[in-house]
Formats: sequence, C-alpha cells, structure tokens
Amino acid sequence: MIAAKPGKLVVISGPSGVGKSTVVRQVLKQLGQSVRLSVSATTRPPRPGEREGVDYYFLTDAEFRRRREEGDFLECIEVFGRGHWYGTLWSEVRSSLSQGKWVILEIDVDGAGEVLRQFPEAVTIFIRPDSVEELERRLRSRGTESEDAVQRRLAVARHELQLSSQYAHQVVNDTVDQAVDQICDILRSRGLEPEA
Ligand code: 5GP
Repeated sequence: MIAAKPGKLVVISGPSGVGKSTVVRQVLKQLGQSVRLSVSATTRPPRPGEREGVDYYFLTDAEFRRRREEGDFLECIEVFGRGHWYGTLWSEVRSSLSQGKWVILEIDVDGAGEVLRQFPEAVTIFIRPDSVEELERRLRSRGTESEDAVQRRLAVARHELQLSSQYAHQVVNDTVDQAVDQICDILRSRGLEPEA
C-alpha cells in the first residue's frame, strides 16, 4: 500500500540511562498504528531479558560487516569505540514510510547527524536527564554494568549533552508521563495525524 502522504522519520536520542526506551514505549502505546519503532541491529551481546527482533537484531561482527557492505544500513556506527556496532536497517524504515507511517529511530547523536543529512525533514528530539548526577544514579541502579562501563557511558553522555543543540526539540525526562505527553505534542505539531 502506498499512502498519499509518506511518513516521517523521528530521531530520538539521549544519554544511556536517561530512560529513553521507557518513554519511547509509552509514546508508541499512545500513538498506536500511525507510528512504529525501528529495531536496530547491533553486535553487542543481549542484556538479560532482551529479545532478538524486539530489542535489537543481534548480529555477529561478520554478519554486521556483510550487511554493511551490501548497503543494508541507512546509518551505522561503532558507538562506544569498543568494537560494538549499531545500525538502522533500511528494511525497518522504507516500507513503513511509504505506507504513511512515522518511524521512530532511537539512536545516538552521531547516527542522528547521518540521518539528518539524508532526511533533512526528520523530526529530532533529544531527551535530557534532570542532571548528570541523576543520570549516574540511574545507570548504577540498572545494575547490569561494571564500574568501567558506567564511567564510559557517563563520558559519552557528557559528549552527547554537548551535541544536543543540533536537535530541534529538547525534552527533560523529569517524569515519564510529562516527557511522553511532550513528545506526542511535538509529533502532532510536526504534522502527525491521529489514526484513521
Ligand atoms: P544500548 O547498548 O544501551 O542499547 O545503546 C547504546 C547506544 O546506542 C544508545 O545511545 C542508543 O541510542 C544507540 N543506538 C542504538 N541503536 C542504534 C542505531 O541503530 N544507530 C545508532 N547510530 N545508534 C544506536
């Protein structure tokens, strides 16, 4: 089905631990069929509870490289400089956009720059923590990572906060409900129509 009006890409970024996934899940619930989430591919191992094809497509380094060489990615990047790759697959966005659906990409700041280069009309939203201290508390309470990994994520977070001015919209994740409402309002103000 080709819709009269194609959908838009929505790039949502924010430091690791800011609660992006929770906020995005609620946004999807509120907006229903008009919006879908792009499932990224990654070479990092799954965390406990993460599911193949739901949280990520978990690929080996060799599979990721092959798909990259075949041009399967809209954008892809080695996020933490430690050998873990992440990328947005064209197969996750193309058909949805042509069906008039909006597609959310939950990706990092460098990937966002690459998406904007190809889709200047993409809606960009940066989710910020109350403070870096609050972010540190959340990262530790997740309890899934070593001290080294927490410190690395905090360093990346500081870098991401510095680059956040390239985003058209900024949302503070003070409470989840408020952040969700703000994001839904932003999408409506950028032309998202309610479900038919
Ligand atoms: P995590 O390992 O915590 O799931 O994600 C780490 C970082 O990778 C997050 O900042 C997340 O937004 C980013 N990320 C996830 N998928 C993609 C992707 O497809 N492309 C890019 N550029 N970044 C991604």
